[in-house]
Amino acid sequence: MLNDIKDVLIDEKTLKKRVSELGKELAEEYKGKNPLVICVLKGSVLFMSDLVQSMDIPLEIDFMAISSYGTGTRSSGEVRILKDLDKSVEGRDLLIIEDIVDSGLTLSYLIKIFKDRNTNSIKVCSLLDKPERRISEVEIDFVGFAVPDEFVVGYGLDFAEKYRNLPFIGVLKEEVYV
Ligand code: 5GP
Ligand code: MG
Ligand code: MG
Repeated sequence: MLNDIKDVLIDEKTLKKRVSELGKELAEEYKGKNPLVICVLKGSVLFMSDLVQSMDIPLEIDFMAISSYGTGTRSSGEVRILKDLDKSVEGRDLLIIEDIVDSGLTLSYLIKIFKDRNTNSIKVCSLLDKPERRISEVEIDFVGFAVPDEFVVGYGLDFAEKYRNLPFIGVLKEEVYV
């Protein structure tokens, strides 16, 4: 698996340090609010797991599964809900956890869905931001790292469902996906 990696963009130590900082920032932001932390499957699962461990406040977790990429490396713009949240979000403070915001289409769609559900507030925390490729202007309230316009894998992010278990963020060798 390591053979398929061209570069390590963000190593394990840097990743863990930033995630823990973000968690503390979020805990400050949501003090006394019991936020509903929404993990967008599957890419955000490792990030969310580490993040909430640095948030020393009462909170709840729920999962949403949507389809975005299939097995390619470009967003189709078509988003489907594969699994919705278990509970109502009415009156709740939502914190959407994303792995990466690329075109922004997935996130805009998610925010639109939640805006129709009478929440108290909606904020977004994304581990990675790839601003160069934005199509839909979305506000990301908390960002871990900005990354260049390259296809990245690891720490939850996949290519064709693989590489999610790498403990760092890396760039795949081109020959792996062309
Ligand atoms: P967007 O709708 O913003 O274009 O894409 C959002 C989703 O596409 C992300 O949540 C992620 O699943 C996938 N994605 C976007 N860029 C990358 C990337 O560089 N690597 C991987 N593995 N997935 C990506
Ligand atoms: Mg995602
Ligand atoms: Mg994917």
